[in-house]
Amino acid sequence: MYDVLIKNVKVSFSEKKSDIAIQDGKIVKMGRLLAPAHRIIDGREKAALPPYVESHIHLDTALTCGVPRPNESGELFEGIELWNAYRTHFLTEEDVTRRAHTVIEEMVKQGILFVRGMVDVSDPQLTALHALLDVKKEVSPFLQLQLVAFPQNGLAKNGGAQLRRALELGVDAISAVPHLEPSREKGIESLELCFGLAAEHEKDIHIFCDEIDDGASRFAESVAYLAAESGLGSRVTVSHLNAMAYYPEAYARKLTGLIKAAGMNVVTCPLISTAMQGRLDSWPKGRGITRVKELDEAGVNVAVAHDDFLSPFYPLGTGSLLSAGHMLLHQAHMTGTRDFEAVYRMMTENAARVLGVKQYGLQEGHPADLLLVSADSAHDLLRRQPMAELVMSNGRIICETIPAKTTLWTEQAHI
Ligand SMILES: [Zn+2]
Repeated sequence: MYDVLIKNVKVSFSEKKSDIAIQDGKIVKMGRLLAPAHRIIDGREKAALPPYVESHIHLDTALTCGVPRPNESGELFEGIELWNAYRTHFLTEEDVTRRAHTVIEEMVKQGILFVRGMVDVSDPQLTALHALLDVKKEVSPFLQLQLVAFPQNGLAKNGGAQLRRALELGVDAISAVPHLEPSREKGIESLELCFGLAAEHEKDIHIFCDEIDDGASRFAESVAYLAAESGLGSRVTVSHLNAMAYYPEAYARKLTGLIKAAGMNVVTCPLISTAMQGRLDSWPKGRGITRVKELDEAGVNVAVAHDDFLSPFYPLGTGSLLSAGHMLLHQAHMTGTRDFEAVYRMMTENAARVLGVKQYGLQEGHPADLLLVSADSAHDLLRRQPMAELVMSNGRIICETIPAKTTLWTEQAHI
């Protein structure tokens, strides 16, 4: 007898209806099944989907918007100044823990069970990192949280000592921000330091790369070179690449080839990027994101992420990856027939590859991590952005949402 049998679902929008049998937290059988089960769930022809994967979010800055004061200009550098003030005067472990759990709950409701969180390690006490390492353990029964040590104020000043401490404490990946270093040379040094440490500690790399509207910022080629040389390849990810929007076509094509050959991943965060980038351009202003469609079509693994959530950098955000995907459809000019599936891939399997999630997707033998959603296709899902009605982690239902129901009385009104 199975533990759970989910009847009548459309697995990943398939036309064919299927049942999913779950035993000991795993999917043991899929197809038309008649066997008995302790619990039977009628899927009512909803889509059964793998959980969404958030590949870039800041849990330490989330929900700090407005403290100590709002970001008056809305710009990145004022945001960094405000975050430095918050970190100095307000940050405690209890504060980070409380905010992180709130955001994780919001993400779980939205169907996200895999998260890569960026943690600023500029703080000498590493307060946020200590708190988030505990949060990672606390949520591990139902959600995989990876932590990336990220030096918001650059590596040039402290020579990577903070990254070393973060590695000793047990982060999953490390980062650099080469375009914020004081010179091109220092930027390259920060990358070399990061790659040396990652190779030594066998960790992933997630670089904040060329997040600037400056066509002369060209660190992605160095990351691609180091990813290929070190053999770290697909364990290397770059976020944003906004400068790529400004490169001449010939150079953009060369870079796309280098990224593809290195096997590294690209993460785009259209919500924050559309709000933050392009501000200093004269008209016409850039769209704010990198060349997502071109990179995807060239075979680069591209993921879409939500990123900031009510932070000093971004006064919006709900944790919904569907909202990030919806924004990407617009910004990347991805409203062609196949683009909807491409963006759906970017928030599911592509993002899972960024995180290196093992046994991702609805298959026999994989953990029973899944969502039930009322949507007919990737197009329908991204257009309407419906909530996941059921979220299951390791065979256990961890969240259920009853969709809002509206009764329209217009006919009676006419009478
Ligand atoms: Zn970010």
